[in-house]
Amino acid sequence: MSTPLDVDGTVVCDTMEIPHKVNLLGLSTSKLVEFFESIGEKRFRAIQVQKWIHQNGFDNFDAMSNLSKSLRARLGEIAEIRAPNVIQQLNSKDGTRKFLIGVSGNNIVETIFIPDGDRGTLCVSSQVGCSLDCSFCATGKQGFNRDLSVAEIIGQVWIVAKSFGQLDPKANRTVTNVVMMGMGEPLLNFDNVVDSMNLMMDDNAYGLSKRRVTLSTSGVVPALDRLGEHTDASLAISLHAPNDRLRNELVPINKKYPIAMLLDSATRYIEGLPDNRRKITIEYTLIDHVNDRPHHAYELAELLREVPVKVNLIPFNPFSLVNYQRVSNKALRAFQDILTKEGFTTTVRTTRGDDIDAACGQLAGSVVDRTNRSGRYHQQQDNNQIEPINILHN
Ligand code: SAH
Ligand code: SF4
Repeated sequence: MSTPLDVDGTVVCDTMEIPHKVNLLGLSTSKLVEFFESIGEKRFRAIQVQKWIHQNGFDNFDAMSNLSKSLRARLGEIAEIRAPNVIQQLNSKDGTRKFLIGVSGNNIVETIFIPDGDRGTLCVSSQVGCSLDCSFCATGKQGFNRDLSVAEIIGQVWIVAKSFGQLDPKANRTVTNVVMMGMGEPLLNFDNVVDSMNLMMDDNAYGLSKRRVTLSTSGVVPALDRLGEHTDASLAISLHAPNDRLRNELVPINKKYPIAMLLDSATRYIEGLPDNRRKITIEYTLIDHVNDRPHHAYELAELLREVPVKVNLIPFNPFSLVNYQRVSNKALRAFQDILTKEGFTTTVRTTRGDDIDAACGQLAGSVVDRTNRSGRYHQQQDNNQIEPINILHN
């Protein structure tokens, strides 16, 4: 039977936690196989269970009809399938949905679903907060709290896929793309992010194409250098400036790993992929009169001339605590025109989910919230601008 999650679900869950059970949701394919072998079961059992968990959204062994009754009972004793809790789901007027996900330690991260025609892109968080402190980012202003576990990262996909009835052919919403562009710097939570992305692309789990799972990084070069040994997901680089002087101001990690080093590493990664037609996505957040002038666009074109890239321009999303302003439409178009004329495929990310603070860079979290966004959220609720919905679990 379905029961609505209550708003304080995280706390309830924490008190019910059974520490000795292995949470199978958080196991990569190889670790799941290892687990089954450790209890004397063959590999194919692990795959059967993996399909029940990720393809069917099950969190209950009793319902896994192709397992023997005794195995189901045994699994119930030693294992569990435990996703983080959905604390709240908010719907934007434009169809964007924001899931506030409660993770242990009374933290909240955000997962955003952005529908666009027959595509559904899920923006997934990798950390609670972020230590890199980019000057224009609300998550950075929150500071770093902790890494998310695999269960908490893949759990975001599990929750959303399940809430949309992913496997139901009549379901009109589904997750087709995942971008690691929520809260946190994915390369600073390397192992858990790699395991989670590999599950997203595993045919026995979510089966997403490697072109449709994207890791976004602000440039942790040593980790990027070894990424290719572990995954073949797509890559986005958060560049935001055409030279080191400006990038040092906007993205402080640039002082440690400057642009040339970063672009070299990213090129090695993309050229090392088996599918050699792929390009690095360059993300460039346009901030009024900071990095949006025509001379910045020309300098960017020069910088990227020999690099296999496409460019995604992101209008800066303003939030309290910073004085930056959103780029004007005129400057945005001029910037795009220059890059296009210089031969770059250049897209503009339209701002989505603005009314529920779900747009990029607004993922600051609501618990350890130094940006007063939770206050704004309650105000919006009072004004009936958003519609809170409880997710149903089976
Ligand atoms: N840490 C990773 C991924 C999370 S940030 C990274 O930096 O790439 C995801 C994207 O949102 C990045 O390109 C980031 O630069 C951008 N972003 C952050 N704050 C923003 C803001 N206020 N407005 C627009 N984009 C922003
Ligand atoms: Fe961290 Fe990315 Fe925000 Fe920079 S832009 S502070 S790396 S989440």
